[in-house]
Amino acid sequence: MPLVVQKFGGTSVADADKILSAARRAIRAHREGKQVIVVVSARGHTTDELIGLAREITERPPAREMDMLLATGEQVSVALMAMAIQGLGVPAISFTGAQIGIVTDSFHTKARIRNISTERIQQALDDGQVVIVAGFQGVDEHYNITTLGRGGSDTTAVALAAVLGADACEIYTDVDGVYTTDPRIVAEARKIDRISYDEMLELASLGAGVMHSRSVEFAKKFGVPIHVRSSFADAEGTWIVAEEDARLLGASVTGAALAKDEARVTVLGVPDRPGVVHALFRRIAEKNIVVDMIVQNVATRGRTEVSFTVSGGDLAETLMVAEHAAREIGAGGVTHDPEVAKVSVVGLGMRVHTGVAQAMFEALGGAGVNIQMITTSEIKISVLVDRSSAADALRAVHRAFELERPRLDDRREFAPPRRRPADRNPLAGPEAGSLVGGLGGMEDLVVSGVELDEHQARVTLLNVPDRPGYASKAFRSIAEAGVNVDMIVQNVRTTEGDTRLSITVPREDADRAASAASAAVGDPGDVLVEPGMAKLSVVGIGMRTHTGVATRMFGALADAGINIALINTSEVRVNVLTDLDRGREGLDALGRAFDLDRARPAAGAPRT
Ligand code: ADP
Ligand code: ASP
Ligand code: MG
Repeated sequence: MPLVVQKFGGTSVADADKILSAARRAIRAHREGKQVIVVVSARGHTTDELIGLAREITERPPAREMDMLLATGEQVSVALMAMAIQGLGVPAISFTGAQIGIVTDSFHTKARIRNISTERIQQALDDGQVVIVAGFQGVDEHYNITTLGRGGSDTTAVALAAVLGADACEIYTDVDGVYTTDPRIVAEARKIDRISYDEMLELASLGAGVMHSRSVEFAKKFGVPIHVRSSFADAEGTWIVAEEDARLLGASVTGAALAKDEARVTVLGVPDRPGVVHALFRRIAEKNIVVDMIVQNVATRGRTEVSFTVSGGDLAETLMVAEHAAREIGAGGVTHDPEVAKVSVVGLGMRVHTGVAQAMFEALGGAGVNIQMITTSEIKISVLVDRSSAADALRAVHRAFELERPRLDDRREFAPPRRRPADRNPLAGPEAGSLVGGLGGMEDLVVSGVELDEHQARVTLLNVPDRPGYASKAFRSIAEAGVNVDMIVQNVRTTEGDTRLSITVPREDADRAASAASAAVGDPGDVLVEPGMAKLSVVGIGMRTHTGVATRMFGALADAGINIALINTSEVRVNVLTDLDRGREGLDALGRAFDLDRARPAAGAPRT
């Protein structure tokens, strides 16, 4: 019998009428002969209101009690939904996360799912009942109630779809799909018909609030197609599917995202030797704080600056940890900026960055937006800007890539096959028909390999003026020289007082890139070329949200005495640049650290 999971978000169950209308939708699927699981969020703004209430009682509510409180929101919704469905004449039963055995770790307010016992749900489904499950919550091994982090009901829904082998997971919300960017900020944003897991993972983790990024990790890991659609209309929404089903149509950029509530932290005067970056990030990872945009300057006189971003809510704790770590490693001090925002563009079509970077920087320069920091991954470019210019920056970028224009050949009525991981997923071993069984916990990190690219060179522009338009000028010149740029990083101003922009390029193009860049900056003395670099990568799913990955990677390299020259992270990959002559050794160290026998040098020439 086909099985579908339907998830209704807060606005979709805000009042009695909406609950009844969601109930009718579930009943329709039931009458079509499907088994139906309904996952619900707390009604309307309930979660926000509960958080507000807790803050009225105390400034720092204990995390365990916060979970106890927040879980009540979803419990109200499941009961009402079960009443609605039963009232309309169909058998239904509601469950809390604990009742159906969603077992998590004990990280209150950001718990991860370990496993889900399916017997009770399966029994109810087999009895012909619609099963209603509270989203966002679980229970740890000591029966403490936990929650999965804001927006976590999506993750409950996709996790249930994964363990029960549902044909699809439908996410009903207040927009009719995933848009090229948040339609509340950019009115011209357009609905996307199909998007790949990797693109959605990046967009979600870079700020597109429409999906909880961890739900997309599950979907990719277990091959669950997701259909994001409107609660209030019947039109097709957006399918989030495997890359081959997304059939990308040539455009380099698929969407743009804004993370408005970001904060930047910079550790000054960091000694440039192996192990130092590791010592810093290990401390932060221990607190389960997700960091992004890690950028390290090219060192001068044995010292460098390391900057990174965290979400605003994690700033206070991060500063405490960073200050402690700075003392430990003998760094100069810690500065921060709580008023920044991150604007990103994402697309599988940008595997080479030159043109996309140029267009993005040009758009920002044209809008008078100053770029404070830049980082890239294979499929995204992120820039850090002042929070007050964030919305303008997003609009300018959206316009520059003409994201409002429909893509060719968008097809309606698309229903992808459910692809089991073993069919195609390189993460799955021979017996991985059930990848679930293979993992210690369902949300455990999946690392599929480590790679080495020995064909990299780094080109650094020193003394970059701290004003709009500069990056665009340099990139226009590099693009005109026909050089393919891989990684791009720019940090905030160094203690020496200058800003530095580094790129990596294929070694044979390094001199050409350097002369193009110096033509743009006007002074060849301001361009530094390091031709002998290697890129080491750890590849998997959920690499950034699993805070321990980068730490384990930096730790393995530190233990081998290998210095890290540049860092670059995404949800599917963490890359570091090292000296060429340490590359192979680094590859072996990483293979051991991640317990892989699949460590391999990347084939042949660099990507073009
Ligand atoms: P729910 O309560 O149903 O989970 P959310 O508020 O979590 O709903 O997510 C839906 C909202 O996400 C939309 O109203 C929209 O403002 C916002 N959003 C942000 N980025 C995007 C995007 N790229 N596409 C669609 N919606 C987006
Ligand atoms: N109610 C929770 C929140 O508001 C979970 C969710 O809606 O997904 O974050
Ligand atoms: Mg949501």
